[in-house]
Amino acid sequence: MNLADSEIVGAVLIKDGYSICRDINDADYVLINTCAIRENAEQRIRKRLRELKALQKQRQWVKIGILGCMAERLQRQLMEEEENVSFIVGPDAYRKLPEMLSHITEDEKMAETMLSDIETYADIEPIRYDTNGITAYISIMRGCQNYCAYCVVPYTRGRERSRDPQTIVAEAKNLFDKGYREVTLLGQNVNSYRWRSDNNEVGFPELMTMVAEVSPLLRVRFATSHPKDLSDELLQVMARYDNICKCIHLPVQSGSERMLKLMNRRYTPEWYLNRIEAIRHYLPTCSITTDVIAGFCSETEEDHRATLEMFRKVRYDYAYMFKFSMRPNTFAAKHMQDDVPDDVKTRRLEEIIAIQGEIALENNQKEIGKVFEVLIEGISHRSEQQLFGRNSQNKVIVFERGNLHPGQYANVRVTRCTSATLIGEVVGNK
Ligand code: SAH
Ligand code: SF4
Repeated sequence: MNLADSEIVGAVLIKDGYSICRDINDADYVLINTCAIRENAEQRIRKRLRELKALQKQRQWVKIGILGCMAERLQRQLMEEEENVSFIVGPDAYRKLPEMLSHITEDEKMAETMLSDIETYADIEPIRYDTNGITAYISIMRGCQNYCAYCVVPYTRGRERSRDPQTIVAEAKNLFDKGYREVTLLGQNVNSYRWRSDNNEVGFPELMTMVAEVSPLLRVRFATSHPKDLSDELLQVMARYDNICKCIHLPVQSGSERMLKLMNRRYTPEWYLNRIEAIRHYLPTCSITTDVIAGFCSETEEDHRATLEMFRKVRYDYAYMFKFSMRPNTFAAKHMQDDVPDDVKTRRLEEIIAIQGEIALENNQKEIGKVFEVLIEGISHRSEQQLFGRNSQNKVIVFERGNLHPGQYANVRVTRCTSATLIGEVVGNK
């Protein structure tokens, strides 16, 4: 999400005559795009700001700006607390950046943090400046109004709004023509994507169809699906197109009915498991990944065991696992107590991580002997002689280079694995 936003910021500034430099020591402006989702994300930014003081000592004219969710959450307070920050820009105000930069002086700091109900940056072609030239993100909607009790996103990114589907398809076509072979459609809850025009309405399954038809050689992924809105219709569309990748990220957050209710997730464990069954039914080869939070307000050992049980039942291929971090202004901050001690949160998180590690390894071991079509993304970090790519299920596969190159598809047979990576040999390519 943040990378996609930074690519929009890059486009806005380049259009106004600025350029992006590779080396921070050449920069006149340093823009830091931020996340506010957990406290440690914000602490990392504050540490980075302290480190940048050394750069500003040598290059006193350098101005630092904070973009994104942390700017939105803290507003001008951030510039009072961090004296080396000269400007802050919220996620819906990036178009204002050129004008702001032209007005910043030694003594004047600037802030633009108005949220919008309509801004989608639909007309801006993102600058893909940190790219492998093969895979790209396309933002299809912004904001969120689900108000999960723990989550700061509705407050930092504003109301949910969808982007004109024609501009999304045009962006996908343009990327394909430039040699890209995979796009990931991004939104906080892509299943509620909806675009209404005078004579028709486009929902997420229709949008997926439109993007999948750009070319059979263009892979399409998406994130994130909210379990309450994952429809059979979408699963049917996914089954119909080979180039729609068979991988669904379905954040569970907790396996306990009581916790899910307190979190305001608006589904029960039974509902969630029913969605998992539907995925397995329509898409037998699909991988499933998730997000989970350990130690949300009032979580008991029983609630925690329900989460471990959920992990054993679903057998996720990958999971992003977090310790609960109370965020100011959220429903939880206003009405609940952060009452699970930190050492208990840590222990519960470690238990989830341990189970997930075993399951991921077992899942990968089952892939040994199978042949997957892999989109080659680059040269392996371990060896110049090896390439890596991902299969439709989003699993990383490493194999000998031969005379293949990034951007090609190869059929690879899996011969070995770790819990994170498959290792294989090429059996063909196209
Ligand atoms: N829109 C997506 C998630 C976006 S945030 C969804 O609804 O699934 C990414 C993940 O961060 C969430 O799924 C959640 O697991 C985690 N998260 C959000 N707020 C958090 C908090 N206060 N503490 C810990 N983890 C949190
Ligand atoms: Fe946050 Fe919930 Fe919206 Fe996801 S759906 S961004 S967790 S409020």
